[in-house]
Amino acid sequence: AWNSPSETTPESYFDSLYETDPELTRIERSIREHGMPEISVEPGYGRLLTLLVAATGARSLLEIGALGGYSGLCLARGLPPGEGRLTSLELKPEFAALASRNLAEAGYGERSEMIVGPAADSLAALEAEGRRFDFFFIDADKENYPVYLEFAIRLANPRAIVAADNTLLRGRTLNPGKQGPAVLAIREFNKAVASDPRLVTAHLPSYDGLLLAMVKGEA
Ligand code: SAM
Repeated sequence: AWNSPSETTPESYFDSLYETDPELTRIERSIREHGMPEISVEPGYGRLLTLLVAATGARSLLEIGALGGYSGLCLARGLPPGEGRLTSLELKPEFAALASRNLAEAGYGERSEMIVGPAADSLAALEAEGRRFDFFFIDADKENYPVYLEFAIRLANPRAIVAADNTLLRGRTLNPGKQGPAVLAIREFNKAVASDPRLVTAHLPSYDGLLLAMVKGEA
């Protein structure tokens, strides 16, 4: 058991050390004002995305599931000044419009691209165009995580990073009584990545769970 007041979690403790981030706070407020679901990536994982993009020198970023642009901004912030590009795939046109607006207001309008529609179709189109990416963030419909992972591996430059959020599904992943399609897909996804010879993988168990992987490639 944690020897701390019950309302303090490891995540809330570390989050409390950081100053309020005006740009991310504005995005959260815009999501609320539009009555959209408040399910942006957790702040600690947002910081991790920025860090990983910056540390790996990734230039071409792909996110699957844009919502209001919170994770998009976290990803874009890791790019070197004036360089690189973020491509976001989003099913809902009104969400894509807000995310585009928020990214433009944060100064990334010229370097971000929004593709509206079911992500599996958009990924097939990107593959047909021969596009390749250095960094993937998977954060859309959970049933398709196994599909998105296969696309990511095919679209990956050597040593590309794949991050995927919500691998715990608020504990449902661990509960054998839960057998819905999202839970089954996430269990399949978690198990498959753990033994995939094409990947170097780690599962982070904080917040709602994050999968991190590097696609080995040839280099
Ligand atoms: N990554 C966002 C962030 O942290 O700011 C949050 C994304 S939210 C958890 C999931 C998003 O995936 C929603 O905006 C939803 O509309 C989108 N989505 C759901 N199914 C999709 C699909 N089949 N193709 C593309 N986007 C989808």
